[in-house]
Amino acid sequence: MNTITPILKPLTLPNGAVLKNRLLMAPMTTCAGFFDGGVTGDLVEYYRSRAGTIGTVIVECCFIDPKGPAFPGAIAIDSDNKIPGLARIASAIKSKGSKAILQIYHGGRMVEPELIGGKKPVAPSAIAAPREGATTPQALTGEEVEVMITKFGDAVNRAIKAGFDGVEIHGANTYLIQQFYSPNSNQRDDKWGGSRDNRARFPLEVLEITHKMAKRFADSSFIIGYRFSPEEIEVPGIRFDDTMYLLEKLAARGVDYLHFSVGHYLRTSINDTADTTTLIEKYHAQRSDTLARIPIIGVGGVVNKSDAESALDKGYDLIAVGKACIAYPDWADRILKNEHLELFIDSTQREALTIPEPLWRFSLVDAMIRDVSSGGRKYKAGVFQEKVEAEALKLKINVTLDTDRITDITLVQDDTLDVDFSTSFEILRSRILVANSPYVDAVTGATAQSEALKKAVSRAMTTSTKEHVIEEGGNPEAPQSYDVVVIGSGGAGLSAAIQAYDEGARVVIVEKMPSIGGNTIKASVGMNAAETRFQKLKGIEDSKELFYEETLKGGKFKNNHDLLRTFVERAPEAVEWLASHDIELNDITITGGMSIDRTHRPADRSAVGGFLISGLVKNINQRNIDVLLDTSVEEILHADGVVTGVKIANEYNEHHILNAKSVIVATGGFSANRAMVVKYRPELDGFVTTNHKGATGSGIVLLQNIGADTVDMSEIQIHPTVEQTTSYLVSEAIRGGGAILVSQEGKRFYNEMETRDKVSAQIIALPEKSAWIVFDDQVRQNNKAADEYIARGFVVSAPSVGELALKLNMEPGNLQATLERYNQFVVQKQDEDFGRTTALRCELNQGPFHAIRIAPGVHHTMGGVTINTETEVLDSQKQVIKGVWAAGEVVGGIHGANRIGGNAVADIIIFGTLAGHNAAVHALS
Ligand code: ADP
Repeated sequence: MNTITPILKPLTLPNGAVLKNRLLMAPMTTCAGFFDGGVTGDLVEYYRSRAGTIGTVIVECCFIDPKGPAFPGAIAIDSDNKIPGLARIASAIKSKGSKAILQIYHGGRMVEPELIGGKKPVAPSAIAAPREGATTPQALTGEEVEVMITKFGDAVNRAIKAGFDGVEIHGANTYLIQQFYSPNSNQRDDKWGGSRDNRARFPLEVLEITHKMAKRFADSSFIIGYRFSPEEIEVPGIRFDDTMYLLEKLAARGVDYLHFSVGHYLRTSINDTADTTTLIEKYHAQRSDTLARIPIIGVGGVVNKSDAESALDKGYDLIAVGKACIAYPDWADRILKNEHLELFIDSTQREALTIPEPLWRFSLVDAMIRDVSSGGRKYKAGVFQEKVEAEALKLKINVTLDTDRITDITLVQDDTLDVDFSTSFEILRSRILVANSPYVDAVTGATAQSEALKKAVSRAMTTSTKEHVIEEGGNPEAPQSYDVVVIGSGGAGLSAAIQAYDEGARVVIVEKMPSIGGNTIKASVGMNAAETRFQKLKGIEDSKELFYEETLKGGKFKNNHDLLRTFVERAPEAVEWLASHDIELNDITITGGMSIDRTHRPADRSAVGGFLISGLVKNINQRNIDVLLDTSVEEILHADGVVTGVKIANEYNEHHILNAKSVIVATGGFSANRAMVVKYRPELDGFVTTNHKGATGSGIVLLQNIGADTVDMSEIQIHPTVEQTTSYLVSEAIRGGGAILVSQEGKRFYNEMETRDKVSAQIIALPEKSAWIVFDDQVRQNNKAADEYIARGFVVSAPSVGELALKLNMEPGNLQATLERYNQFVVQKQDEDFGRTTALRCELNQGPFHAIRIAPGVHHTMGGVTINTETEVLDSQKQVIKGVWAAGEVVGGIHGANRIGGNAVADIIIFGTLAGHNAAVHALS
């Protein structure tokens, strides 16, 4: 072991306790406690395996009061019965030779009512945290504040009894102690609020009682630390000089260390972003002699020995390490042996690394997990240069690849270019490196540039793979073999690929467009399913039977009964399948043609498509599933009645063969193929389409070429609410959220919640062949999509109904009367004019008022190839074509003559996963 490094120098704290070296394991949320905050066996082993060479382990924050847990699975020190469990952790750490410190906290207003039995959280003032959906807490009375301090004292006493070497007072992360010090969350006018001294009173009293307890029940070596967040972004909020003020006070009272709570040990100010001085430099410049005697811990961004040494060099006395300690339980041993470490975790090693299951799913850890078991793609190590071109952007990047991963992406310096892309580039670069895949979410507001950059990285990877194959003496042009080829990267293709992979198949996805997501990425409203867990949680009573009947009625009784039955039966499982892949659709709304809230969407009510694709792609990345972009399948290879693979053409029009026993066709519909639409429905000539360019129906043709039959080809849905200048679809969630449709005359003309075909027909029947979708600000607030429409610039808004009417060139009296009459229907829950029975959500009376001009556009092709309930493709004799499955919009029959909003997303997941399963079983049999 290298003893020259300053990392190994022991440190004597102000109270005389000696830390054997400068390394600490940072306190990190594991979410691995029992429901009541008790300690689980997994947690004890997690800490045991990480103690040893590391000098000190700071155990994750422990809540001191039943109203204190800030996240599910938090551990507690709120009663004496928690002592034995905590004692097991302390003893596990100490038995390995490290010091054990326990962090104590109360979440205050950061606590969600569902974590505390539906009760209201408490805080210094009745002010909700500045985040969407935050609950307004109850302000603690003066007496309750005093009691709270004694509870911190009790917690310290329990920590001593449990055998800890010290406690860390958690004054950071916007929890209760910070809430008292912050002028944002503390607006009290008693002795606990107002002036800075008053706001500092609570943290100081907590420190005071900690000292008292330590003095009474522990020996003098009991360590007392304090963790703080140096700044708040809010106005008003804690600024760095406020922090220095508090730290001086804490130091004057006596504390054994101070612990910065930041994401990186070299962080600069979040308030003054122009200031490039690091906070640690500022701290050194401003601190008094008293403060200088208190050791300071830095945290964030330490992975290798050089990072730790650099942090000490920058003026920290101690280094706390988070993620690296999760990924490497023996982290300290490794860095001291000068091993070079990278922050990633082999997906098969959870148990070997003693990482509790809930922590494994925690986003920080999740982002480090890599599937290395699949072998994955192999690259020729080196730097590969690629062009990135999108709109005005023209630049070059260097992609550095190791044999199995991307290690860096840099912009090639070019002084002739004035690119305002650096921020987006940095965001994307880090997303790509974290995911170790080019398939990551685009940066909002820079979509085209993001896609171009992702494509360039993917191209570099392809070149390098080719070079690797050549280096190994292989022929990159030779046919490649997989178990399952999936054609199309929409929701159906991605879910099929994930399922097939999880059942052991080697899978490749072929996508003809330059990016992943197909038309699914544009899906807005949600995913229908009846009798789901999320419906039950919300007290919504529903039945599969009713879902079946309403879909059948919506489809004009033309739906294939067997497929529809399978669809309805498997829908709740599909919602659970998504949830188990970290794609939770737990908010619920309604769409036209349904009588019950059964459209599942993301908790933040954002459009389902982007959320779904982003979640599915994350799963694809974790599994290292190959994706070939800009590559079309031109032919499904077929010999003696059995599918043998596909012929593909890449962007350079080079042709290759992919051998596979199973092929899944998930190529979507044909709404964007004008000729094909007009062939089946001549009257739709000239209609805009809501679909992406790739919706050309090529999969139908590929399958017809090997004998597949089709059904319902002339059943083409037009969506009633499409903004015509952009072809942008105005989601049904807006009507489902309470909006109405009015004509140019300013009058309602139909039940807005009728099925899409009927609403479309009524709009086309208006003299102006278009209508206005009108809603108030309440509807906007409840539907994130509305803000997107505003951002896209096609929403007309005005403070009052009259002003809105004028802007729409409409008779103000008419619109006023229409809204008043509609509002009356909302109150009486009965629409006397058009019989609307659902989504009479709220009176439209909160300005500003909004309107979008809409008309129908080609939206969905219900027709497609024929399949059986196992997604096997059928020929015209209803015989199975061996080795090929189809799922998603390429299939006909499920939706009959009209697809209900929310049923397409259900369709792709239900039949996509089923196709993936069957294709894998077949290939591996
Ligand atoms: P679904 O909703 O059924 O999953 P999507 O429209 O979302 O359908 O996705 C289908 C994807 O298939 C699109 O991204 C489209 O570009 C792709 N695709 C269509 N035809 C081909 C083809 N011949 N080769 C490769 N990809 C294709």
